[in-house]
Parts: sequence; structure tokens; C-alpha cells
Amino acid sequence: MAKKKQAKKSSGFWLADWANNQGSPKMATFMVTGVFSVVFIIHFSMNAEGSFGWITAFLTAGLGYITYKLWSGVLKYHCPKCKKIYVGNIYSQSHLGSKQRAKQYRVRDFQTLKYKDQKTGLNKKQNYTIERDETGVEQTDVYHNKVKCVICNYKWEYNSTSRSRVR
Ligand SMILES: [Zn+2]
Repeated sequence: MAKKKQAKKSSGFWLADWANNQGSPKMATFMVTGVFSVVFIIHFSMNAEGSFGWITAFLTAGLGYITYKLWSGVLKYHCPKCKKIYVGNIYSQSHLGSKQRAKQYRVRDFQTLKYKDQKTGLNKKQNYTIERDETGVEQTDVYHNKVKCVICNYKWEYNSTSRSRVR
């Protein structure tokens, strides 16, 4: 039972596991970016004809998401030592502090207008939205994270921030 912990060499994210198993996650990312570019070009050249291709639209969106995730892994979320992506396991996190500031938020109100149609005499409904600016309070929390790579056990540290509206 004690040996179970060592067997786990997965990031817990299927895409990262796939890229990490390609040897170099960066090369895998370039490969996927290439495929994405081709599908993207096919999609837009097909739609120039006037018809909308659902298959290529679906592939473009799916591959777009995958490409985005891989690049953020390669550029930001990777182990500094073995370069594998999404392998940092936070084993300790401390709250360094928080700041609050006033911030303008754009909010949307959904409203329904009920009226009687003059021509048919029927009751009708119309939905509409109002956009307006509102002053709220944004809180920024800073955390210090201690991370350990699930693949090579390398340890590193970084700060992260999270922002949320509190009022
Ligand atoms: Zn590592």
C-alpha cells in the first residue's frame, strides 16, 4: 500500500498526459498548432462559398481549445526542470494578503416587455437586455505556492493572484 504513491506519474489532465508522453511537450504543441492552422484555413475557405460547415466549425473550436491549453502549459504551467506541462502539484499554499479597490463593472439586466399587439389583439412578450456600468469592489488575493513536479519530484515556488468581485 505504501508504494502506491510512487506509481502515480500522471498530471490528471488527459491532454497534458498525452503531450508529456510525446517526449517533448513543446514539439507536441507545435504539431497540434500545425493541424489547427490547416483545419482553420479549410474551415474559412469552405465557408467562403456561403455554406456553413459544422464539422470544420466543431474541429476548429475543439482544436482551438486544445492549442490554447497546450500553449499556456508550455509558456506558463510547466516544470522548470523536466519541462513537462501541468505537472505542478501544490503541496503548500499561504495567503500573502489581499487588496480591495473600486472597479467599474459592466452588467447586463435581462427584462421582459409584455404588451398587447395592436393588429392581432394577442398578448405578446419581448425579451431585451440593458447594459449599464456599475461601481463595485474587486478583491485581489495573493498566494505563495510551493509546488512539486509529479514526474521528476523537482520543487519550485511561485506567487499567484486571484481576483473576484466582493461587492
Ligand atoms: Zn519535472
